[in-house]
Amino acid sequence: MSDQDLDAALQEFVGQSAGDATRSPDPVNQAMIRHWVEAMGDHNPVYVDEQAAKEAGFPGVIAPPTMLQAWIMRGLRASLETEAARAAGTSQGDGPTDRLMKLLDDHGFTSVVATNCDQHYERPLVLGDELEVSSTIESVSPEKATGLGVGHFLTNRLDFTDQDGELVATMKFRILKFRPPAAVGDDAGVSAPADTPPDTPPRALRPRPSLTHDNRFFFEGAKEGKLLIQRCTSCGTLRHPPRPACATCRSFEWEAVESSGRGTIYSYVVNHYPKVPAFDYPLVVALVELEEGTRLVANVEGITPETVAIGMPVEAGFEAFDDDLTLPVFHPAGTSDATEAR
Ligand SMILES: [Zn+2]
Repeated sequence: MSDQDLDAALQEFVGQSAGDATRSPDPVNQAMIRHWVEAMGDHNPVYVDEQAAKEAGFPGVIAPPTMLQAWIMRGLRASLETEAARAAGTSQGDGPTDRLMKLLDDHGFTSVVATNCDQHYERPLVLGDELEVSSTIESVSPEKATGLGVGHFLTNRLDFTDQDGELVATMKFRILKFRPPAAVGDDAGVSAPADTPPDTPPRALRPRPSLTHDNRFFFEGAKEGKLLIQRCTSCGTLRHPPRPACATCRSFEWEAVESSGRGTIYSYVVNHYPKVPAFDYPLVVALVELEEGTRLVANVEGITPETVAIGMPVEAGFEAFDDDLTLPVFHPAGTSDATEAR
């Protein structure tokens, strides 16, 4: 199929339904709202206090608008059932979206990344609203060159209606289906370490971070053996992971400061499954509280799952997993090595 034929085939999907309409499992309710605003740290009383909501001109307690998608999430059990059906080969998987994805897969656009989510609200949702969502393939772009590779942008439009069939919100969700850079085993110049026996396949690479204007400094710092943390230049608050704005004062101005790398294990998990080829298992993953006061997630090495403990002092070293990726890795305090390479 030529590029022109592919474009024509892709345009056939525009306007098609992207799946059956889905009803929200629960009406808009105070319990879910309360959990949401507590998790988000949103103290606006119109989400929890009837009187405050009425004084603000609403008919009663309203749901935070950005909670929109939470109402139609299908839940863990349904997700697991879908995964199991796919694994068993019994999944239907023949709707327009499935066929669109397969067409792109077949042309080498096998990777996917979400790029935009735009929500538009027609009215605030109130307690008792029952939502239904239907989804339409709104657009498929021609082939575009992007920083990740060449690909096509796909936009789905979700229309949310209420119990009276009235439109209450729309959401446009855009993804990029792109051709991934040559993988391990292709002619990508990825070679096995010199001491690897010739019949051992090269070690899979760790997943790449998606580099942005906001987070690039962190990974570049790691390459130089520095653990860099964002600091708001307006109010001095440290933050991690990197993001555009300060949650304390909303300032977009920031600088990177170097951490001592010393901290303690605030919490941890020991990951046994699923096994991703680039990692060694069991894998100790900790939330480390740095002595500067912010936290980050990182691997802990030089320790067994039996001996890792909350409160344990640790310090950062740097590990070059491949030519492109160096990450901070923590060790029990006093045992940290300098930057090491695999
Ligand atoms: Zn600030």
